[in-house]
Amino acid sequence: MSDHLEQPPTRAAARAVAVLGLLAAVVAGGCRPPQPARPSGAAGAPLPAGAAEAAEAITAGDLLRDVTELSSDDMEGRLPGTAGDQRSRAYLAARLGELGLTPAFGADGWEQPVPIVGVTSRLPETWSFQAPGGSEVAFRLGDEYVGASGVQRPQVSIEDAEVVFVGYGIQAPEEGWDDFKGADLAGKVLLMLNDDPDWDPALFGGERKLSYGRWTYKYESAARQGAAAAIIIHTTPSAGYPWQVVRTGWSGEQFELPAGAEPRTRLRAWLTEDASRRLVALSGHDLDQLIESARSPGFAPVALGVRTSLRFDVELQAGATANVGGILRGGDPVLADELVAITAHHDHFGIGEPDATGDAIYNGALDNGVAMAQALAVARAFTGLPSPPRRSLLVLLPAAEEQGILGSAYFVRSRAFYPGRIAADINFELGNVWGLTRDVTVFGKGKSELDELLAALAADQGRVLVEEPDVRAGWFYRSDQISFARAGVPAIWFKSGTDFIGRPAGWGEAQYTEWIERHYHQPSDEVDPSWNLDGLVQDAQLAFLLAVTVANRDAMPAWVPGDEFEDERLASLAELR
Ligand SMILES: [Zn+2]
Repeated sequence: MSDHLEQPPTRAAARAVAVLGLLAAVVAGGCRPPQPARPSGAAGAPLPAGAAEAAEAITAGDLLRDVTELSSDDMEGRLPGTAGDQRSRAYLAARLGELGLTPAFGADGWEQPVPIVGVTSRLPETWSFQAPGGSEVAFRLGDEYVGASGVQRPQVSIEDAEVVFVGYGIQAPEEGWDDFKGADLAGKVLLMLNDDPDWDPALFGGERKLSYGRWTYKYESAARQGAAAAIIIHTTPSAGYPWQVVRTGWSGEQFELPAGAEPRTRLRAWLTEDASRRLVALSGHDLDQLIESARSPGFAPVALGVRTSLRFDVELQAGATANVGGILRGGDPVLADELVAITAHHDHFGIGEPDATGDAIYNGALDNGVAMAQALAVARAFTGLPSPPRRSLLVLLPAAEEQGILGSAYFVRSRAFYPGRIAADINFELGNVWGLTRDVTVFGKGKSELDELLAALAADQGRVLVEEPDVRAGWFYRSDQISFARAGVPAIWFKSGTDFIGRPAGWGEAQYTEWIERHYHQPSDEVDPSWNLDGLVQDAQLAFLLAVTVANRDAMPAWVPGDEFEDERLASLAELR
């Protein structure tokens, strides 16, 4: 799986993040008794004839075959733009064809080309700020500040811009929250808090981190104000990871989609908490007091009177990869124009630093070979139905997810399919290779009607839905489902939980912990003969049954009323009327 914290995560950073995030996420409760089975369809349409039988066609043998091929050394770790990338895409297209799907991208066939841009920012070793009286503070690159160009230009310059503290930098009408209060922030350097308000269960999902709390939102929000730069104040609790992760993730080349017409700040930066404290002190303010003032809907921006200039060069490198997709046409003359999407990213980290055994190929078997195998298995199960479901199926293997969720973002941006005609996205990422569980973890549980449909189907398997324990980590925003959600499409990412049948309490957590420490984003993420794929099969069957349910219902699923993505959905549906 990928982190998408600070793109692109280096291996060290990714591991640190994984240990902080995923490990926290797998410290789930102990054993829970299986729930009595409920008839499926309680919350949705009844399953069509033959669905249960078609689900049985998903087997461990088929999953193992695909993950073995996709994570073989021949695929060279599937780094975007490499020969291994092309070979894995060709394999996926061939498999989709064998299964009877048709190419998803018209004249382009199975592949949708995805342009990517590598951006390397040559920031100065120190960045200084001046107060009106002539006093100054300067911060060291790496130790105290990091950043990257926000624009794809060979030179960036910020001249004598004023620093303004803008609290959380959030504008959320549905929460009655606007940190900017109409202030003119054009050309300013915005200093902002990470995370979103978390002290009130009625505000911004309480402790749960919403997209407003993600660093990606902060920079976009600053850009909408016409700001020259945005600086996020790092604290470990608000980020969910230590400074070292930010530092490593923001050094070196960053990959992006080519810039469009969207507003961009010239610089995206982070400051350590200590550096932020000194910057604010230079202005005669106190950081703790500013933070306290930001914890109110009445907050207004505070101009600090401190100014800064910064000039640096940027190296730009164009590259290309592709999304892979196939379609199985639905059986209803009207609803067949609507899609249910199944996604699993196909890229990984390629060939890199060798490990202690001399192996340098980052095979990515669990990340994300098993997930691709599950997506193909769902396609196979669909072809086993006695008649096609009403809506169409799209199996999409997005590119460059590890580099910042680029392929799926490009897919929704491209409008190859109208988001308003995509009923749902069901995403696979990582997977369970340790056996059957009594629980199913839904990342960002409680956002859409998909949970209700899934709960009924999981109950038929004797399983219950649980949320990830580390709800502050914002896992929902870290894999391909987020691209769909941002386009308004109800989206879900789930996988087996940690309560393993026939294993003592804590056993599941121990497996995840050991795997992350030994194999996560390392050359040893390879197919292991000791794997037990029963849980992987069950998760794929669950996704298949959910996809069939969504494909056959009268109405497309909806976000829970008031969800952060509801307005986008209503807009995209209105666009089609
Ligand atoms: Zn991944």
